[in-house]
Amino acid sequence: TKTIAVLTSGGDAPGMNAAVRAVTRTGISSGMRVMGVRRGYNGLLNRDVFEMNLRSVSDIINDGGTALFTARSPEFNTPEGIQEAADNCRDMGIEGVVVIGGDGSFRGARDLTKAGIPCVGVPGTIDNDIASSEYTIGFDTAMNTAVEMVDRLRDTTESHDRCSVVEVMGRRCGDLALQTGIAVGATTILVPEIPYDFQRDIVDRMMFTQKTGKKHFIIVVAEGVGGVDKLAKDIEAKTGIETRATVLGHVQRGGSPTLRDRVVGSVMGYYAADLLYHGKGNRVVVMRGGKITDLDITEALNMTRTFDKKLYDIAHRISI
Ligand code: ATP
Repeated sequence: TKTIAVLTSGGDAPGMNAAVRAVTRTGISSGMRVMGVRRGYNGLLNRDVFEMNLRSVSDIINDGGTALFTARSPEFNTPEGIQEAADNCRDMGIEGVVVIGGDGSFRGARDLTKAGIPCVGVPGTIDNDIASSEYTIGFDTAMNTAVEMVDRLRDTTESHDRCSVVEVMGRRCGDLALQTGIAVGATTILVPEIPYDFQRDIVDRMMFTQKTGKKHFIIVVAEGVGGVDKLAKDIEAKTGIETRATVLGHVQRGGSPTLRDRVVGSVMGYYAADLLYHGKGNRVVVMRGGKITDLDITEALNMTRTFDKKLYDIAHRISI
């Protein structure tokens, strides 16, 4: 029988467990052996690997985080590390690996495939920052958590006639900020993809809406733009409106996955195991045109992200 392995790598994301579960159940029901690897690529280097059965993945579909644990592995990301991981796989009889993670993890999957172990990547990250896929597992849960948190801030911001500057996650990708900003009715949304002008985009917008009767304000800022403490001080100095900065941070990574992340995680996990079953490696499972499909890893890694400028413009058109 063929043996495959599954690991989660990079930042954890809600819904990764649904993907691990689907890989395991699809693999076993296809007649393969499925090994769980702990702590990402580190587990391949340390041989921290165990055989899974159908019940090994029971009761995890509703859990946030990843039951397989995750890690960033600088040791793996060297020619020697990749060789060692491939040698360990051969030694343990592992003939294919499903890697659930972000772009960095996909580069590792490409390198491990080159070293002789066919890999399939599954996009799992709350940032939605993978160019080849319209959607990454964890994004929906993170957005909903961010909205819930900002709603709480709104209560206090409203009661005090204040301005709230909120930093949400997204180092290179403003999708989380954009979606959250629309959902909470932010006056301005700042994202790494679009440069902003302090006076025009923040102060003037606040002053305009204040003239029409608005008394409290929410500014949503992506992590990649950052600087929310200074921004809050500058806004208060310029407008006279009391302003507080809040960084939501890692709360956005946790929590029980939403329906969408459970379903997309399940379907992508199924596809990944099925590709390996059919002897196809060096692929990534992606969502394109709303459908789950697969692409060559290198081709996928060479794609560039496009930011939804139209949606960004709509957000600002209606936040007046
Ligand atoms: P997130 O988007 O959540 O940060 P990620 O998968 O992009 O997830 P990284 O820390 O970039 O997170 O990558 C995870 C692991 O993948 C690294 O610790 C490393 O072992 C491996 N990796 C990253 N980049 C490469 C690369 N260029 N070549 C080979 N392996 C890599």
